[in-house]
Amino acid sequence: MTLGETRRYDGERASSKGERAVVLGASMAGLLAARVLDDAYERVTVVERDSLPTAPETRDGVPQGKHVHVLLEAGRSSISDLFPGYGEDLVDAGALIIDVGQELRHYDEGGYLAPPARRMEMYCASRPLLETVVRRHLAELDGVTIRDNTQFVAYRTDADADRIDGVRVRGDDGLETLEAAVVVDATGRASRTPAWLAENGYGEPPVEEVEIDMVYSTLRVNRPEGDRRMPFVPQSAPRTRGGAAFPVEGGEWVVTLGGMHETDPPATVEGFLPYARELPVEDIETILASHEVVSDGVERYPFPSNRRVRYESLDRFPGGLVVLGDAIASFNPIYGQGMSVAALEALALHETLASSGDGPLGKRFAERATDVVDIAWQMAVGSDAAFEATDGPTPPGASMFDTYLSRLVRQAHTDPRLSEAFYRVVGMEVAPTDLLRPGTVWRTVTP
Ligand SMILES: Cc1cc2nc3c(=O)[nH]c(=O)nc-3n(C[C@H](O)[C@H](O)[C@H](O)COP(=O)(O)OP(=O)(O)OC[C@H]3O[C@@H](n4cnc5c(N)ncnc54)[C@H](O)[C@@H]3O)c2cc1C
Repeated sequence: MTLGETRRYDGERASSKGERAVVLGASMAGLLAARVLDDAYERVTVVERDSLPTAPETRDGVPQGKHVHVLLEAGRSSISDLFPGYGEDLVDAGALIIDVGQELRHYDEGGYLAPPARRMEMYCASRPLLETVVRRHLAELDGVTIRDNTQFVAYRTDADADRIDGVRVRGDDGLETLEAAVVVDATGRASRTPAWLAENGYGEPPVEEVEIDMVYSTLRVNRPEGDRRMPFVPQSAPRTRGGAAFPVEGGEWVVTLGGMHETDPPATVEGFLPYARELPVEDIETILASHEVVSDGVERYPFPSNRRVRYESLDRFPGGLVVLGDAIASFNPIYGQGMSVAALEALALHETLASSGDGPLGKRFAERATDVVDIAWQMAVGSDAAFEATDGPTPPGASMFDTYLSRLVRQAHTDPRLSEAFYRVVGMEVAPTDLLRPGTVWRTVTP
């Protein structure tokens, strides 16, 4: 499900479901889920292991926050629906609004994409700032409490483990039980819920994994005021090197160089320029060569695989449990989908809360969330499958679609309408099938 297929948020539609909801994890998925739970539960308690900084700083529980984080249009629009004024507050806090046609230098398939036919904007900020502004908005809701320095330890269940009715957490005062009508697991990719389900007789949910062996290396450089260039050179089969320089608040670029399939990006500051020189265009090299490095060394992040957990296919599912965010699916980060998928999932949770149906809330949500994950999965895994070394099941028709997409991108070097169509799909505004409209196909195949 894309932004275009998603019903707009309307808090009035959620009916009362119970006294307290507990959300595990105060990263993007947890914070956005808490927003929609606030409409249906008297209290929402968000439990976070980390100490949450008031300023936009990276933290241990979200180590990926040091790397480039693109907020796609589906995410920007959904978050702004959930928290009116989000975009304005981001800009007040220093974020930039980029004109995609002017400032993005997107190199793919041997050329730069033409500026899209209509003006398209993108908010650029560090990941900690994107998250901090969401957290500030959430904290304004009377029914929501965010408890940091509090670690989720275990689920509490009724006698038959049919229903999760609370959690055991460890905070400053030791172990404690929080009763809950629903517990939302937003603890990310390392979620322990699959193991818990297996131990408690539900069976382990099937996992799909597509190995890509991606590594990110990131540093920050000084950015002169007014220089808003945003070069983006994604990996494109068979080229396993890629990179981006992303303008963020505080007069800096976050520069990320990435390598897939045993292509190791630099581990040292000195290694950045030589690696960037190997890219097919000079944009990132030019920025690195003429601007001072302002970060302490290089941050690295290995990302082995696209991974999704098929909760929707379990025959039995406990009451009182919902799983979302990276805990159900995480994607090759170069496509910048994770936060936007989390935002669309929050809207899917809102729809699930607003509608009635048979079976546990978490199962009904998992079925609905599949539509969101499918779109992102198809795009990420479909593109990754073009690399020979990519290992894992690929969606049917991926290879044919990728061949078509490559041609479309080449035509988009000179065709603003195709460029716009491409960005709307990449931004999860519309489904990839939108690129098969007759007018788009015509522009793509006509020499
Ligand atoms: C290198 C990299 C780059 C990325 N780039 C992008 C991008 O450009 N655009 C984009 O949209 N997405 C990107 N993503 C994905 C994005 O970061 C995630 O999809 C997004 O953060 C949503 O994840 P989440 O909230 O589900 O989980 P996470 O962000 O992993 O957060 C999990 C939270 O749970 C907490 N937690 C864990 N265990 C416990 C416990 N036992 N008790 C209490 N709290 C706990 C953690 O401290 C953390 O706060 C990137 C990811 C990576 C790895």
